[in-house]
Amino acid sequence: MIPDEKFIQAPGVPGPTKEEIRCLMMCKAQLSKNDVVVDVGCGSGGLTAESALRAQKVYAIDKKPEAVKLTQQNLEKHGISGNVQLIEGDALEVLDELKSFDVILVGGSSGDLPLIVSLGYEKLKKGGKIVVSSILLETKVQAVETLKKLGMDPEVIEVFIAKGKLMDGGTMMMGRNPVTIISAVKYSE
Ligand code: SAH
Repeated sequence: MIPDEKFIQAPGVPGPTKEEIRCLMMCKAQLSKNDVVVDVGCGSGGLTAESALRAQKVYAIDKKPEAVKLTQQNLEKHGISGNVQLIEGDALEVLDELKSFDVILVGGSSGDLPLIVSLGYEKLKKGGKIVVSSILLETKVQAVETLKKLGMDPEVIEVFIAKGKLMDGGTMMMGRNPVTIISAVKYSE
């Protein structure tokens, strides 16, 4: 995993997804060398970068031009831009244009999560995986409900990471926002 502080950050662009959360998302995505991955809402490029290190090809989508630019900068910084195609645009429009893929990561949806997940499912190869990370209560519920409606069997985990901060008197555990990771495998066409 790339440490959080090794990513360039920019005002107005969220991310990178914290290292421990990236770690869990990669664990659920189980990427292999031949996989084609789509990262919906690439933000600062945290998940795009981790996917680029593990898969054959990554399509990184974000509707914000600043996010696409920042992802590009972070990929170049880590020398991993070769297998990534950056696409500026709304997830629904871009997904519609893409051929099939093995894994879809969803880290941003702006209210369109059910549609993004449904379209992603349609384009997902058999055996492919959907991994959604969610910090909003509403999106967590939408992700679970949509995956169930699609006939999938979602696994839901919620993690509360606390990271130690070294102080003079000892190590203070600093809590971070809870993040829910909802993942599912497509077993049949
Ligand atoms: N996983 C990223 C952080 C994601 S932040 C990282 O590790 O850096 C969520 C991003 O999703 C934001 O940059 C936002 O612009 C993007 N986003 C939200 N809704 C979108 C949509 N419908 N289509 C494309 N991008 C979207």
